[in-house]
Amino acid sequence: MEQLTNLGVADARAGLADGRFSSVELTQANLQRIEEVDGALHAYLRTTPAKALEAAAEADRLRADGDDRPLLGVPLAIKDVLMTEGIETTAGSRILEGFVPPYTATAVQKLEAAGAIVLGKTNTDEFAMGSSTENSGYGATRNPWDAERVPGGSSGGSAAAVAADEAPAALGTDTGGSVRQPAALCGVVGLKPSYGRVSRYGLIAYGSSLDQIGPLTKSVVDAALLLQVIAGADSHDSTTLPADVPNYAEALSEKAEGIRIGIPQEYFVQGIQPEVEAAIRIAIEQFATLGAEIVPIQLPSTELALPVYYMVVTAEASANLARYDGIRFGLSVDGETIFDHFRQTRGAGFGPEVKRRIMLGTYALSAGYYDAYYLKAQQVRTLIRQEFERAFTEVDVVLSPTSPTTAFRIGEKVDDPMAMILTDIFTTTANLCGLCGISVPCGFDGEGLPIGLQLLGPSLGEEVILRAAYAYEQSTDWHLRRPNL
Ligand code: GLN
Repeated sequence: MEQLTNLGVADARAGLADGRFSSVELTQANLQRIEEVDGALHAYLRTTPAKALEAAAEADRLRADGDDRPLLGVPLAIKDVLMTEGIETTAGSRILEGFVPPYTATAVQKLEAAGAIVLGKTNTDEFAMGSSTENSGYGATRNPWDAERVPGGSSGGSAAAVAADEAPAALGTDTGGSVRQPAALCGVVGLKPSYGRVSRYGLIAYGSSLDQIGPLTKSVVDAALLLQVIAGADSHDSTTLPADVPNYAEALSEKAEGIRIGIPQEYFVQGIQPEVEAAIRIAIEQFATLGAEIVPIQLPSTELALPVYYMVVTAEASANLARYDGIRFGLSVDGETIFDHFRQTRGAGFGPEVKRRIMLGTYALSAGYYDAYYLKAQQVRTLIRQEFERAFTEVDVVLSPTSPTTAFRIGEKVDDPMAMILTDIFTTTANLCGLCGISVPCGFDGEGLPIGLQLLGPSLGEEVILRAAYAYEQSTDWHLRRPNL
């Protein structure tokens, strides 16, 4: 019997179609693996074994009747910021403990409509605020490559689950890097689609002008397959783009010929871990060998991206999180007056990072400060976007490290919010500008920790970043390595 938990989406799909194994066997194997390793990793907040096995048995029956939907019988993990009807959804926050949503997010619903099965909900920084999954109200997730280290965040549970073979693939969300950075730190592939490419209906909102849902997978092909299913316009989300969804798998090619790859000169001067920089430089040479054209470019406003991002995202978060008042859903702590009730509930339910961001965001939006902070940030955001627009007239993709360092130790940056923020230096621009981006494994540091390479593309440029990522991946074996658990 082949090792079923090693399989990604494409391989699982092929095995199911050929009758080499059933969906029940595949689902059982993944649930068994979760039993074995998740006690040490805590990638999942909860699993839904009964539901999953029932759906798997149904998938096997349907297949016998000729059903061949693309994801029929393939189990997946879902980040706990995506609502799932009948399954508790907390966004990693105590304020939503016990909340069971009345409907399912469009992206998840599309996966299920394609035949996929939900294995469970994965851990996340509270309301997706963080870069390490340590801000979860339910305890940290550990990195499968080294349990003393963080898996990245905020989709750290999804990244760890995929890296540890606890799921063939997972969904995460990316507001400032939360799909790409944990993918890099866990040695898997993470794709952030362009703003508007995937519906956010049923996604618990963090920064509404930045949030996107994307897949975390064991290969670039799998990222293309999942994007194919979740992409497209949705009448429930007016920010989705009406553009047609191309055939992403068909765009993949083992050659990178003709792809112009921009290397931003500004990205190699800051404090990058030397092994990360070395791996990226070798990858650039590899791209040249594959036929890509390497073009030095300038993105001088890069250093402004972090302050702009943290101004915009906290402002939006402060508005989005106003709804958690202890009356409509989740935790409710009685107070003497209605205002006291809000205060007690929010005081008890939100963790320290969430409170810090609500305070920062409220301040940035308050009368008298709005122009100096929020408005100014939006103006600089436009400048950054114009810089990228100019760059994309000269190149097809922009290459950089995904994260300046490999996985750091649990606890190392908890008391230093500034150090934590700096880990987002290469990822936030994509969200500020609505671009698409992908992280693929590109090596290991001296301690055996994975390194990720980021490719950014213009809005709706998913085909080109997937093509470049695939060509690179197929010419290396980084994505085939597995942690020793
Ligand atoms: N680390 C960033 C933040 O805390 C990004 C998080 C995300 O993409 N959800 O805001």
